[in-house]
Amino acid sequence: MMNQCVKKIQRDSIIVDAHIDLLYDVEMQRRKGNTKIIETQYLPQFVEGGVNLVVSSIYINDMFIPEMALRKALNQISALHSEIDESPDKIMLCKDFEDIDRVIEEGKIGIMLSFEGVAPLYNDLSLLRVFYELGVRFVGLTWSRRNFAADGCKSLEVREGTRGGLTEFGIKLVEASEALGIIIDVSHMNDEGFSDIIKISQKPIIASHSNTKALAKHPRNLTDEQIKSIASKGGVIGMNVASLFVAEDSKNASIKHLLEHVDYIVNLVGVQHVGLGFDFCDRLFENVSVEFETSSSRSAFDVMKSHVELDQFIDGLLKKGYSEADIELILGKNFLRIYKQVFRG
Ligand SMILES: [Zn+2]
Repeated sequence: MMNQCVKKIQRDSIIVDAHIDLLYDVEMQRRKGNTKIIETQYLPQFVEGGVNLVVSSIYINDMFIPEMALRKALNQISALHSEIDESPDKIMLCKDFEDIDRVIEEGKIGIMLSFEGVAPLYNDLSLLRVFYELGVRFVGLTWSRRNFAADGCKSLEVREGTRGGLTEFGIKLVEASEALGIIIDVSHMNDEGFSDIIKISQKPIIASHSNTKALAKHPRNLTDEQIKSIASKGGVIGMNVASLFVAEDSKNASIKHLLEHVDYIVNLVGVQHVGLGFDFCDRLFENVSVEFETSSSRSAFDVMKSHVELDQFIDGLLKKGYSEADIELILGKNFLRIYKQVFRG
């Protein structure tokens, strides 16, 4: 039985998960004929965890790149609208801060959209505006692979030549995104691209789902210098539950190790730069493995099973001595601060 203080924090805080591969799963399942997937499969956990707002990635599998990337992105957004039509009183697409206020007031779950790699744009900057109108408010220039804008961090072992930073297209994309009020996300960037973004960007940036390299040396995690750079721009880093990013001895990774990443960042740059970007993948891989044989072997796991275990995360923070006010910052207020700063209107 979790203590009453944890429940109170869950109830009173605005909880934001800055990264979930929701629409990738939803679109795939809808193709199989399933409906009301968010309402029946995700909402119960969001509600039990006290989650108010999630950022869904628009992620494109390798097999669709390049020709089908644009179409798959549109399919995923279309799938979201079908889901909203089926559950209009429960979920809502959020495009600005007023929408976020409304979601909280009406007790719905807000869903925001983020590019996890700009494969859908290929090399056409004019499409950015179209996706902005559709609701995309975050741009991660790359997933772990290389594309027309930049080079990914290569979390998978591949044979490849020398890595680079942003391309001309990538630089224009950062500028155009910030001009529209889109937040730049550096999770999955390689070090060269990261440095370029730090130089070019004028607004707060985020690493929506990355941990610290000091505690788990993995290409997807951030060095101390990178954490300081994000903080110096007023940015926020979302904590990721994937075992590989949580502990070097990933087989034994646990929520205890995840909380150490929170502590590490807080000690380095302050509590106003930590958020949640859990990136729950266990369920996704169950579905994906049926569809794509290449993805069927996966030894990694999520150190929290779902948002249902948010109470354990909060309890862990309380036991480490975090105040209720600090916990509220980590659970959502830090990300909301940036949304308010960067979104237009
Ligand atoms: Zn990711």
